[in-house]
Amino acid sequence: MRKMIAALLALLLMCCTGCGHRTIQASSFALDTEVTIRLYAGGEEQDAEDALACIDSCERLLSAHREGSDISALNASDGQPVPVDALTAQMLARALDIGRETEGALDVTLLAASELWNYKSDCPRVPRQAEIDEALRWKGMERIAVEGSVVTAKEVRIDLGAVAKGAIGDEARALLRERGVTCALLNLGGNILTLGQKPDGSDWVVAIEDPAGEGCVGTVAFSGSRAVATSSGAQRYFEAEGVRYHHILDPETGFPARSGIASATVLAPDGLTADALSTALFVMGEECAEQLLQRYPDCAAVLVREDGTVRTLGAVDFTCD
Ligand code: AMP
Ligand code: MG
Repeated sequence: MRKMIAALLALLLMCCTGCGHRTIQASSFALDTEVTIRLYAGGEEQDAEDALACIDSCERLLSAHREGSDISALNASDGQPVPVDALTAQMLARALDIGRETEGALDVTLLAASELWNYKSDCPRVPRQAEIDEALRWKGMERIAVEGSVVTAKEVRIDLGAVAKGAIGDEARALLRERGVTCALLNLGGNILTLGQKPDGSDWVVAIEDPAGEGCVGTVAFSGSRAVATSSGAQRYFEAEGVRYHHILDPETGFPARSGIASATVLAPDGLTADALSTALFVMGEECAEQLLQRYPDCAAVLVREDGTVRTLGAVDFTCD
């Protein structure tokens, strides 16, 4: 299904970029997903390739699962200060800020709990309560201190999975902007970032996948440089004894969040904010989501409820399919 949606999305976006302009495209597998970069105005093939290389090098810093990454070093640091790349420190600090603003719905210290569920393996399983309790002992955003480019993380296990695609997309988009690219689209496994106006002046149009099945619930349209991220219970899950367990955890319980929301899509000026808030809104549910978004006036959201109905928050041009 994901392939179909990706193809549909690509088609929609291609149809909407306006004909007659030279399009440069480059793709790779990174961040555990497919990444595609399209330049519609300005830039050369090398710029698209360099943006992919930028994504790769950011992943080397930020992945909790890569030996030698800053995050792996922090997770093994036993509370000792670790000098990290300025990018790592900056992203971690912003993720912690948003974590606090969401009152912990976004919590980048859930690595131990996430690993317990084994979502990424062929044999995910429902952990025992005692295992969850043990894993949650390694949670605690307040145990991380970022001072300049030195980070101290004590008795905590960090996972930037909820913000990394968006945050890394920001870096790649900034590189393209510096190279003089004036119109581009970056798709990091469904995390979309746009750069500039489309040459034909029309809006960007991004489809939102239906979390309950095939196809899309609708599209969002916008102009200029934005980021769109979706967190969905349908993106990664397994079933055991008739119950579906997805990969977005309630930090309070260590179990998959059940907030009545099946998917949360956030539009924001930058990728990190869109990615962080989409995860947080999914966890916190509709009422809290509404309150939180009031603090982010330049962001908007489309929530798909578990009953399939849709709620928009903030200023968003959403068209139902
Ligand atoms: P996303 O798909 O952006 O919503 O991110 C989900 C990923 O972030 C999961 O695969 C975990 O690695 C991690 N994660 C799960 N639950 C949370 C949470 N409540 N806060 C922060 N990260 C989480
Ligand atoms: Mg996210």
